[in-house]
Amino acid sequence: MTLTPLDQHDPRLRQVCAVVPRTALRDRQQQLEIEALLDFVYGASVKTAGTGGRRDRSQPNTVGLSANQVGIMKQICVLDLSIGRKGYTDIHVLVNPRVVWTSKARTEKPEGCVNFETVWGVTRRPRTVRVRAMDRSGNELELKLTGWPAALAQHEIDHLNGHLFIDRLEDPTHAHHVPLDQYAQYRRAKAREWDQFVDVSADVSAA
Ligand SMILES: [Zn+2]
Repeated sequence: MTLTPLDQHDPRLRQVCAVVPRTALRDRQQQLEIEALLDFVYGASVKTAGTGGRRDRSQPNTVGLSANQVGIMKQICVLDLSIGRKGYTDIHVLVNPRVVWTSKARTEKPEGCVNFETVWGVTRRPRTVRVRAMDRSGNELELKLTGWPAALAQHEIDHLNGHLFIDRLEDPTHAHHVPLDQYAQYRRAKAREWDQFVDVSADVSAA
């Protein structure tokens, strides 16, 4: 199963995904679908297609993926919390994840999205969250995440409920336009100083 990201205007990005019953996780097809999501994240279906599909954990295509970003309309997402962050070494497949607590403290961070190739922007989100979910075996788990991992989890859980990061921008008429060949510059730059903009306000939905 090779997955491709939906176009940013695809209506499936605005739908609420279906809850996955615990019993469905015993199904082999369901587990294969989760494997396909991991293949997408770690490049097996993109960078090494036709070569046996080996995953490369050091070079993920994305640090997070929600199933509906690739057209699977179920409450499943993948978070790679290991990238450059001590203390977060696990990759989590979260089934039916939900934010059960948020801190009053907030942080602002630049975010992008697999479905928006050249659009970035600074979002303001709770700094710390508690997330409850099942793992892919159906065990209940709770994560307390702070800072970057918390923003990632909120971004992905938003997806599963039909929300996009552009809905969280302070000024969606001035989202950051980041051409693919300028991505490295953008990551080095102070987001506040970026001077290329794109108007995504027509695509914003009230949360
Ligand atoms: Zn996204």
